[in-house]
Amino acid sequence: MSELLTVEQAVAAVVEHAKPRGKHDVEIGDAFGCVLAEDARAAVDLPPFDSSAMDGYAVRSGDSPGALKVVGHSAAGHPAQAVLRGGEAVNISTGAVVPDGADAVIEIERVQERGDVVVVEGVAEGANVRPRGGDVAAGSVIGQAGTRIAATHVGALAAAGVALVSTFERPRVAVLSTGSELRPPGSALAPGQIYESNSLLLAAQLRSAGIDADVLGAVRDDEAALRAALERGLQADVLLTSGGVSVGPHDLLKRLFDELGVQRVFWGVAMRPGKPLYFGVREETLVFGLPGNPVSTLVGFELFVRTALRACEGEAAPQPRFVPGRLATPLQRNAQRDELVRAYAQGGLVTPVSGQESHMIVRAAAANALAFIPRGEGSLAAGEHVGYLPV
Ligand code: AMP
Ligand code: MG
Repeated sequence: MSELLTVEQAVAAVVEHAKPRGKHDVEIGDAFGCVLAEDARAAVDLPPFDSSAMDGYAVRSGDSPGALKVVGHSAAGHPAQAVLRGGEAVNISTGAVVPDGADAVIEIERVQERGDVVVVEGVAEGANVRPRGGDVAAGSVIGQAGTRIAATHVGALAAAGVALVSTFERPRVAVLSTGSELRPPGSALAPGQIYESNSLLLAAQLRSAGIDADVLGAVRDDEAALRAALERGLQADVLLTSGGVSVGPHDLLKRLFDELGVQRVFWGVAMRPGKPLYFGVREETLVFGLPGNPVSTLVGFELFVRTALRACEGEAAPQPRFVPGRLATPLQRNAQRDELVRAYAQGGLVTPVSGQESHMIVRAAAANALAFIPRGEGSLAAGEHVGYLPV
């Protein structure tokens, strides 16, 4: 293995090569989770008209308190025809247009209704009126380019009359597991075999990133079979492989990547777990060769693949988002490698789970965080600040 990159250098290399895909317009109802390619602006003032915040009567505040003649009715979707003059009131429901001439709405609880006359208590100018444009003015930016569209953005943009938004295309991602020992869960295991979990793990992680993976299955450590599967996988925007990138005689992927025209960007990151991670590019396709130990796959995805996906989707800041926390217990550091320690984070306190070896995926399932422990001498004391990635 050539010179190892630090995690930071490897993240930077990934970001450098992961460029946004094309732009396309998406209906707002389908836009959740996409990244805006252009600023999205309100199409109308919101509210589009002065509207009532209450059921009650629209009045001139100067006429209150007093007895007023009811001259009309304004319901949601059915504005009153009348223009309000002095001494008059219009019965109004929540969300209805406040008629011209009125400057306040008095809630029904503060009104006595007597036939076509209402006796109203005093009300201040502007009371219970939601002014036109009070939420947003037409043309204002609701979501900036590079923002991932959250549910709140969907609601806001739809309310402001936006039917289509310009977003970056989401990358197509292919997933391929390698290893002659792998069998699908549910089948019987012959001696030496294990259940294949990485493609399912990766597909689930991809789903958490809003991407439906094209899972190409598990391929045995056979050159011809692997080459054929890789050629298929290289048609995607991002190819994720697991296993076969280490230094053993059955680790064929690096050579096959070379033969298939993938340019190596790096192989080997000074981290634990997941050191022999490979990253390369072939034209627009990004290729991640994740080491096969399941926890290495998990960690490699969270640090590098998720970052790449965010960058491909045009997110302004795609890098891993470490959450600040404090160690609950002292922790020995690794002198050479940054460690991603599986931990349980609660209330800002980060407690490593037991079983930190890279094959221990079941132990990792007890964790909800990958704590970043920078390489160095000695140990970190309890209470020391650490960053973690929620998982
Ligand atoms: P490798 O990176 O191919 O040397 O694999 C390292 C370890 O991870 C070996 O113990 C493999 O059996 C195991 N492994 C590789 N791929 C998978 C997979 N898809 N699911 C579960 N374990 C795997
Ligand atoms: Mg293998």
